Amino acid sequence: ARAQAMQVEESPSVSYTDIGGIDDQIEEVRETIEMPLESPEVFDSVGIDPPSGVLLHGPPGTGKTMLAKAVANETDATFIRMAASELVHKFIGEGSKLVRDLFEVARENGPSVLFIDEIDAIASKRTDSKTSGDAEVQRTLMQLLAELDGFDDRGDVRIIAATNRLDMLDDAILRPGRFDRLMEVPAAGEEGREDIFDIHTRDMNVDDDVDTGELATAVGSITGAEIRAVCTEAGMNAIRNGRETVEMCDFRDAYAELDDGEEETVAMSG
Ligand code: ATP
Repeated sequence: ARAQAMQVEESPSVSYTDIGGIDDQIEEVRETIEMPLESPEVFDSVGIDPPSGVLLHGPPGTGKTMLAKAVANETDATFIRMAASELVHKFIGEGSKLVRDLFEVARENGPSVLFIDEIDAIASKRTDSKTSGDAEVQRTLMQLLAELDGFDDRGDVRIIAATNRLDMLDDAILRPGRFDRLMEVPAAGEEGREDIFDIHTRDMNVDDDVDTGELATAVGSITGAEIRAVCTEAGMNAIRNGRETVEMCDFRDAYAELDDGEEETVAMSG
């Protein structure tokens, strides 16, 4: 079960240049995660513990996982990912054991970045704890808190958690020494969307008429994951039309498709 539940990558291939529109978040992650991994002595000489876990929050598909992978890549750390929902839904009854295993694997493979996705699945505000499912979730959360609290040699293992539901989190998880560093990863603004379009069309054979600035305006407020989907679909449209070059109309059609049924977006001109 252990092998199935965790995703371990020696050094993921994502780099900071693959992430668009969230430069401030990249800076902050570098300071809180990279520095303790690369120069733990700085914290020693000042006499403080490095910041503990970082909690990323924001809508799905904005680049939270990418960010965690990029830090691991940049610091030559092992990337270990676990979706908290799997801890309690897929491996019923094994949640707290898996949490123990997870931290053990992270320590054995240090330096490492331990990424706990969808942490709300085990760390939501307590609801009705009478059902057995909730008791299991509680046990898993208790184990996670214990691991976070008992964490001494933090330099070698850095923890990043992510959630789409900050409002649902149990306060216990946000207590000092646990995930006391909150970082919002929002959907990028218009300029950021242009960067993301540039990133995802970088390796595409696009026609000269393709204007990523215009695309960024026209698609309205969509996430990085959706931008990637638009680019892929645009490429598919080119293939369907028997072309090797992707044209502006391919992007337009791709976007119209994604947008089917949605209303509050700007119509594309031209
Ligand atoms: P979730 O909350 O659903 O786990 P996430 O925020 O972790 O989402 P990612 O898994 O990092 O999102 O993003 C999914 C994919 O979308 C990425 O692999 C990438 O191709 C694209 N993407 C998302 N955000 C960005 C971004 N800021 N810049 C470039 N590509 C992005």
